[in-house]
Amino acid sequence: MSASALHELEGLIGAGQVLRGDACARYETDERGLFHGRALAVLRPGSVAEVAALVRCCVSHGIGIVPHGGNTGYCGGATADASGTQAVVSLERLNRVLTVDADAHTMSVQAGVTLAAAQQAASEHGRLLPLAMGSQGSCQIGGNLSTNAGGLAVLKYGTMRDLTLGLEVVLPDGRVLDRLSSLRKDNTGYDLKQLFIGAEGSLGIITAAVLKLFPAAPRNCAWVSITAADAALPLLAALRELSGDAVTSFEYMSDAALALVVETTPEQRLPLSAAHHVLVEMLGKDDEDVLERALSTAAERGLLQDVVVAQSENQRRQLWRLRESIPPAEKRLGGSVKHDVSVPLAEVAAYIERARMAVLARWPRVRLSVYGHVGDGNVHFNVLAPLDEGAEDFKRRHGDAVSDVLHSLAHAMRGSFSAEHGVGVLKRGLLERYGDPVALAVMRQLKATLDPLNLMNPGKLLLPEGPAR
Ligand SMILES: Cc1cc2nc3c(=O)[nH]c(=O)nc-3n(C[C@H](O)[C@H](O)[C@H](O)COP(=O)(O)OP(=O)(O)OC[C@H]3O[C@@H](n4cnc5c(N)ncnc54)[C@H](O)[C@@H]3O)c2cc1C
Repeated sequence: MSASALHELEGLIGAGQVLRGDACARYETDERGLFHGRALAVLRPGSVAEVAALVRCCVSHGIGIVPHGGNTGYCGGATADASGTQAVVSLERLNRVLTVDADAHTMSVQAGVTLAAAQQAASEHGRLLPLAMGSQGSCQIGGNLSTNAGGLAVLKYGTMRDLTLGLEVVLPDGRVLDRLSSLRKDNTGYDLKQLFIGAEGSLGIITAAVLKLFPAAPRNCAWVSITAADAALPLLAALRELSGDAVTSFEYMSDAALALVVETTPEQRLPLSAAHHVLVEMLGKDDEDVLERALSTAAERGLLQDVVVAQSENQRRQLWRLRESIPPAEKRLGGSVKHDVSVPLAEVAAYIERARMAVLARWPRVRLSVYGHVGDGNVHFNVLAPLDEGAEDFKRRHGDAVSDVLHSLAHAMRGSFSAEHGVGVLKRGLLERYGDPVALAVMRQLKATLDPLNLMNPGKLLLPEGPAR
């Protein structure tokens, strides 16, 4: 960066908010430690006006901009490249909850508010912000929007896209697009906010949003064992029907995934011993009865093996802790070759079985960690190194081939190689390989129209030129 650009940026947002050198370190590596970049500077604006001003300044100096939220993304989208020429723009100082309107069931928040803080603000008004995930203490609303995050309650409430009423975005030319509307109905042309949701910062910087809220209600959950993965869907269908569609979460876990949790945190105990487990949660006024009644009818119909209903909030948290401990357990054991595929609901069990057979046929000694939001058709099919092989070595030598097997199978079953984690840098090649050519061409046209200089998160989501294999 020329000294004059740096000086100009300091003048715009304050010298203390332009970080350089070692102060940038924590913004230069992603959560999984897969991506390491070198930032020219980290910019920490404190208002939408400052974001707009710094974008205009960066553009006038030809500086690439990398929007950076809570840095929990799995695809390297928030990490600068290694050139040392890109500015990371952290939204962490835009961290105010602006309003909560309990009667209208809406809240407006700045983009740097963490998901947990937004949930808490809603809950203080007796309302529920249903987006929930293991990273909620760190991830930010802006990052959730930019990845169209899914998480643990999509089944009932949808993804971030479904929860969004309005957005404010700084465009790549520094203009502010003010669509910070709380209207539930507004058919006045293109719904522009949708362009920025899931765009991974490639079309602009989200600075604020209006989100939908729901009445807060008690949560009740149960741990259920089933005889096979293909018993999950009929069980889910029955529970939805029997509960008046009160099921909010339906999380599948294989015994092998849970074995990793017990291995790494032996103080945790599985409530049931079985090959296939499901965590079911329902919300609602007298949910406890609804949950127990629905489960007992499902048991009479032979749809489940065994069940443990959480009898207290503490037990409910313990059950969820088991589920949420799977990713950290994999990490403690050296990490896995991770996959985030989705397939049509009716194909989930077939995908799990075919994937298992295909992987074990080629790598018979690997450990499999299979779990996911199967109520949404979303399977995390993660592959860990054999016990006698180093994790890094295995991932380096076999990671691509393992992923190839699993992604091509998902594609063959009309599924997606990225259900909820996005594309970032990690999956750009997959988007080229599996994406519809017309859709890719339209994405490139949109990118070129809004960001003709390719300075907004360059190199993320779309490969700069044509297909790469
Ligand atoms: C333990 C764990 C559990 C997880 N569970 C889930 C899960 O259940 N479901 C799920 O969907 N994901 C999950 N994730 C992934 C991750 O938490 C989500 O993708 C999250 O939405 C990312 O938010 P963030 O603020 O950390 O974004 P970052 O990682 O900072 O950025 C992600 C992308 O968004 C862009 N971006 C960030 N902020 C903005 C902004 N204000 N404007 C424009 N672009 C921006 C970045 O440039 C980048 O491309 C999990 C991650 C972890 C570590």
